Amino acid sequence: MEIKTYEANKIGGCITEIRSGSTKIIFDYGNNLDDTPQIDIKGLTYGKPEYEAVFISHYHLDHIGAIDKILDGITIYVEETTKKLYDIICDFQSKPRVKVKTFTFNKDVILANTIRVTAYKVDHSAYNSAMFLIDDGKEKALYTGDYRNNGYTGNMLIPTFKKIGKVDYLITEGTNIGDNSHIIRKELSLVKEFETIMRKYKQVFVLMASSNIDRITTMLKACNGTNHILIEDIYMAHLATMIFKEDNVPIPNPINFDNVMVYKPYYFNKKDEYFKHKYLNCFNDKNNNKMLYQPFTMNIRTSMLGDLRIFKRKHILTNACLIYSMWGGYKEKEDINKFIRETKRLGITLIKKELHTTGHASKELINEIIEITGNPKIYMIHTTLKEDKDYK
Ligand SMILES: [Zn+2]
Ligand SMILES: [Zn+2]
Repeated sequence: MEIKTYEANKIGGCITEIRSGSTKIIFDYGNNLDDTPQIDIKGLTYGKPEYEAVFISHYHLDHIGAIDKILDGITIYVEETTKKLYDIICDFQSKPRVKVKTFTFNKDVILANTIRVTAYKVDHSAYNSAMFLIDDGKEKALYTGDYRNNGYTGNMLIPTFKKIGKVDYLITEGTNIGDNSHIIRKELSLVKEFETIMRKYKQVFVLMASSNIDRITTMLKACNGTNHILIEDIYMAHLATMIFKEDNVPIPNPINFDNVMVYKPYYFNKKDEYFKHKYLNCFNDKNNNKMLYQPFTMNIRTSMLGDLRIFKRKHILTNACLIYSMWGGYKEKEDINKFIRETKRLGITLIKKELHTTGHASKELINEIIEITGNPKIYMIHTTLKEDKDYK
């Protein structure tokens, strides 16, 4: 096997190529998070197709966001529920939808009659994230994607690696290596802190990724310990409901939970009729004016600043706070920075402590995985570490 990585020494937009004989496979093809231009690869995005397949590990845009650039004739594989979630993400973020094939966890996909690719579920801040074992009959490579063991499904991680056992090559993310700006703690440990804040404030806004499934669970757990209802914006509500419908996993959603309500941000009214019909005309029984005048906790995005201004005019913001619940590095982005400044002007108190935990493996966890997989040759990607050899 031959392994080649692209854009490995930064967080987001990393691409991995594995070749066995004349068969070449790509793992993940997403957007760069640092606004640098997307890299083009001959035979993948231009020229004649030279790749057998592209496998996508999860729906974060730094892993899937550029698949619309992949040449026709190259099969793109995405996990079944992830595909449905990505369709929703594309519609909400006005990205083109792409035709893909689906894979199922623990079932082999056979390529060119000789290469077996098997997906295993890992714990990450995206639902149903996958890692891939590639076996060409002579050698084995393991591509981890993004992973951690501090989320609500973290306990299954080490047993999964043990089941896979020894490999020849390990391509692992190294977000928390060479960059110690990420908070590493158990997701569950956030519940009590959310509760304390909910007891003090009547309107709690949480600046977070709408698709951070574990965080939604944390927020509802905290709501259940207080008198707050959970209000999901309609984007989050559709993602959570899709997971429930597809996999019967009770991620807090408006269909199954009495105390989960739905808010429809005003800017979605600018979308086209297809969108409005498909997404905005839903959950009407879970959306009313009254919900905003009782204690609530609501997820929020920078694009919802206009909604906060309307809340101010309608005298909804009587005792409001903002919890920052994402990686701290995003605060340097202009839109986030501006959003925080503007919310302060609206009289919303910014909670000083960030309530967040990393979606990525700690250095200790990576070391443990290296040992379990039998000290294979390591390719570290998704990291600010400059040289692989620095890690050893
Ligand atoms: Zn990533
Ligand atoms: Zn990710």
